[in-house]
Amino acid sequence: MKVTEHIQNAKGKPLFSFEILPPLKGQNIQSIFDNIDPLMEFKPPFIDVTYHREEYEYKERENGLLEKKIVKKRPGTVGICAAIQNKFKVDAIPHILCGGFTKEDTENFLIDLDFLGIENVVALRGDAVKNEIYFKPEREGHRYASELVKQISSLNNAIYLDDELQNSTATNFCIGVAGYPEKHMEAPSLDSDIHFLKQKIANGANYIITQMFFDNQKYFDFVEKCREEGITVPIIPGLKPIATKNQLNLIPHRFKVDLPDCLIMDIVKAKDNEAVSQIGIEWCIKQSEELIKNGVPVLHYYSMGKSNNIYKIAQSLF
Ligand code: FAD
Repeated sequence: MKVTEHIQNAKGKPLFSFEILPPLKGQNIQSIFDNIDPLMEFKPPFIDVTYHREEYEYKERENGLLEKKIVKKRPGTVGICAAIQNKFKVDAIPHILCGGFTKEDTENFLIDLDFLGIENVVALRGDAVKNEIYFKPEREGHRYASELVKQISSLNNAIYLDDELQNSTATNFCIGVAGYPEKHMEAPSLDSDIHFLKQKIANGANYIITQMFFDNQKYFDFVEKCREEGITVPIIPGLKPIATKNQLNLIPHRFKVDLPDCLIMDIVKAKDNEAVSQIGIEWCIKQSEELIKNGVPVLHYYSMGKSNNIYKIAQSLF
């Protein structure tokens, strides 16, 4: 079922969902199942699976020259989605990127998803790969997520790249896109970022999932601005419970989001990571409760491969 249908059917009751990462290459899918299993108690209608593009690594050869090596550390997004749908009978949502894909790769990828009975995708640009400062699209690929959304919408209307296929069966994907309450790191302003977010919706996106935030006011202000700009689709808040002291520096650096001072100070004073995890859980529960009171359609949690803390949060809310 489509995410928008799940939201409609819930009739205002907030839904629980989460995002997982495919395992590192060489690891077993069982680790993913073990993480999902306990969370099924809270009846998630859908589970997101991230997509990780290949990275370039440079290795020095014996002759001193550098050899460029392509490595893909977390393959398997599509396979995991199919396995999740089969095992847990919930909708699995693969993320799909502009980066690393030509338009034809994208079309073929979407055809695979359609054949596997996958009805939702989250369309993203992706980040610059290691050793690149700016994001570089493939020669025959997309520069912005809005263009990718347009291609997915076209396929939903049976408009294939190849003119001769124009009478083929249409796909029927529900399309999610990313939104940034604290603006995307490359955007010159929040207003310009929302302007381009609106373009993703105009091109056919059906809902927005936000980047993680730790201060609900940022989400409320973002939703208000989006509504003022005429964006009417559901805006699903993305939440991440902090679990380690390292994340105090890593999260603002990696995702360009602010942490409230009182949360920072509590974490700084915590004696070990067990205490940090407890602080992260309590903060996330408080955030979630306030969001529920304000009528959010879904609470979406970034698990980053660990489900213990998400379990404790869901247990107190759902
Ligand atoms: P876009 O919407 O294309 O925006 C990128 C930047 O370009 C923004 O600054 C925007 O304001 C600007 N812009 C957009 N259109 C135009 C235009 N026409 N002209 C000028 N500027 C423009 N990454 C992964 O690699 N794999 C994942 O699975 C993944 N999942 C994610 C899930 C969520 C919910 C979120 C929030 C992010 C996720 N990311 C993932 C990270 C994402 O790929 C990066 O944040 C990326 O840098 C931007 O992606 P986007 O889709 O928001 O890009």
